[in-house]
Amino acid sequence: MEVQTTKIHAALLASPGIGHLVPVLELGKRLVTQLDFQVTIFVVGAEPSVLESQLQNFPKSSIFNVVSLPPVDISGLVDPNASIVTKIIVMMRESVPALRSQISVLKLRPTVLIVDLFGTEALPLADELNMLNYVLIASNAWFLAATTYFPTIDGKQEDEHIIQQKPLIIPGCKPVRFEDTLEAFLVKNDELYVEYLRIGLEIPAADGILVNTWEDLEAKTLQSMRDTKMLGRVTRIPIYPIGPLVREVKSPALENPVLDWLDNQPTESVIYVSFGSGGTLSAKQMTELAWGLELSQQRFIWVIRPPVENDVTGAYFSVGKGSDDTPDYLPEGFLTRNSKLGLVIPDWAPQAEILRHPSVGGILSHCGWNSTTESIVNGVPMITWPLYAEQKMNATMLTEDIGVAIRSKKLPTESIVERKEIETLVRSIMVEEEGNKIRSRVKELKSSAEKALSRGGSSYNSLSRVAEDCEKSLQGLVARAHGA
Ligand code: UDP
Repeated sequence: MEVQTTKIHAALLASPGIGHLVPVLELGKRLVTQLDFQVTIFVVGAEPSVLESQLQNFPKSSIFNVVSLPPVDISGLVDPNASIVTKIIVMMRESVPALRSQISVLKLRPTVLIVDLFGTEALPLADELNMLNYVLIASNAWFLAATTYFPTIDGKQEDEHIIQQKPLIIPGCKPVRFEDTLEAFLVKNDELYVEYLRIGLEIPAADGILVNTWEDLEAKTLQSMRDTKMLGRVTRIPIYPIGPLVREVKSPALENPVLDWLDNQPTESVIYVSFGSGGTLSAKQMTELAWGLELSQQRFIWVIRPPVENDVTGAYFSVGKGSDDTPDYLPEGFLTRNSKLGLVIPDWAPQAEILRHPSVGGILSHCGWNSTTESIVNGVPMITWPLYAEQKMNATMLTEDIGVAIRSKKLPTESIVERKEIETLVRSIMVEEEGNKIRSRVKELKSSAEKALSRGGSSYNSLSRVAEDCEKSLQGLVARAHGA
């Protein structure tokens, strides 16, 4: 393998799931367009058709190499009923040998390896192959704080949080309420708990952390992570807030009947309803949501999937391929009665394009971090409907700290949210004064995100600092290659 003397070559590793792929691709694009890096992106567990459709979203000017690592068979390694996170972690572990051989055969040696949260077991490859190494947190800094802090607490603090159900107090950060806590923390010593603690401990062993947030959004949390008297004693390494990593929508916009429909609706009159790449609802909850939308009498676009009982991640590994089936699980007559008011889209919709459309005035969202940042950069206020992963923390942050969302009285994972409440929530965000205030606030944040990303802005500068570190490391490699 040659040591390249002109360009920095970054190798990025994306874990399974569109929510993980989207920010890695976007980071790859920025490394090429802002920093003139060469980029190779290694992807685990992506359906070829899904990967291809995601890549079509990127302009030719931001071309990076994408390598799909060979599929791994985890059937004998994981209980089929294990959580999605456990399955992802095992897939990532089993992919490390393939990553090693793929990096080794690259003609130009990468100077830096960037893995996402579930790829930390690949970090030792960086030492082996002389690369700098970073972890990309595709979520926010508060989630990162909880992930790195929890493994360092003592038994008493752990009991207080998990057994006595008291908030987890994190130095310098908003406490995490028990009902919002990460599923991985709940069952001591089970597989997910052990894996997650390992990840929390491995992150600070990297050279730095890139996080999909921006200074103004999470100033207090970021400050604590940099202060060695606060959370900095746990995180220890430099934090680079480089977000929001949101894919740009191509112009002219793609041709799609949903966008044509939106073209004919009044400004900010449509609520978009989506549970991300994998979220599913129970049959009873779908019925209530359908009635809630109908009763609200607001225009809507609803991305629907067949109901799944007792599994809110029911579509995680199968989504994104689209479906032409007419749904037969909605209340009788729903589609006919609402044919003028709304659109029901089975399985998958062009979300980034929809959220950008001026006719969209609200989103009911599962609060995945990509959907959240996509809503913020388009100035769209939210109704939170958290389902899994860190989404309950996100929902709390969005409603209580940032003020860009409203939520149901009870968590949708704890009880059915009934039609009357859904009707009220939708009307509040779309037509009531409360919605107007939240809309103004989210538009302020939209400006703050734009500022952070623009040349000289905080996220732009953070990424430039990563480039400076890589440049120094490259010079070291070149010097060594020349026997200096
Ligand atoms: N997405 C989409 N169409 C859909 C559902 C999701 O384009 O019908 C995209 C969405 O725009 C986002 C990603 O898939 O970029 C989902 O990521 P997020 O972090 O919001 O949630 P996750 O699916 O990881 O829970």
